[in-house]
Amino acid sequence: MANIARDTFVVGLRNAHAMEVQARELMERQSERLDEYPEVKAKVVTHLQETNEQLKRLEQCLEACGESSSSLKDTAQSLMANMTAMAHSVAGDEILKNTFANNAFENFEIAAYKSLIALCSAAGMPEAKAPLEASLKEEQRMAAWIDSNVEKVTMEFLSHQRQAA
Ligand code: MG
Ligand code: FE
Repeated sequence: MANIARDTFVVGLRNAHAMEVQARELMERQSERLDEYPEVKAKVVTHLQETNEQLKRLEQCLEACGESSSSLKDTAQSLMANMTAMAHSVAGDEILKNTFANNAFENFEIAAYKSLIALCSAAGMPEAKAPLEASLKEEQRMAAWIDSNVEKVTMEFLSHQRQAA
């Protein structure tokens, strides 16, 4: 029984690691193209730094479980993230598409961390709870910021469109 919980937890950690690699790729691509939206860019750059810490936390959790933190799946995920960012970059409303995608992504991350936190005790890894909760808080802060800035970013986009017309 303990092993099933442990295995579920380890698979969850690996999936979360692949998710964070994807997040990192997405935000790296986005931050290169956000000069017209300095406030969004600053947030993305800050969250990119948090994401690198989140990756380290997940790697430490995996190592504490006796698992190696390298995995093939990460590569496929980061390729997908780069393709998503590229697809959005050819659209005129790139900033809006990225805002919607980031809103979805942050909420996906929130659910993933909540799930991992729920598994900690059963997996015999209560010490993993605190770092995962730290990452969860960062995701919640980022999700809340995106949610409260959708309208503002939209109106900024509109004024850029008007200037270009
Ligand atoms: Mg994250
Ligand atoms: Fe995030």
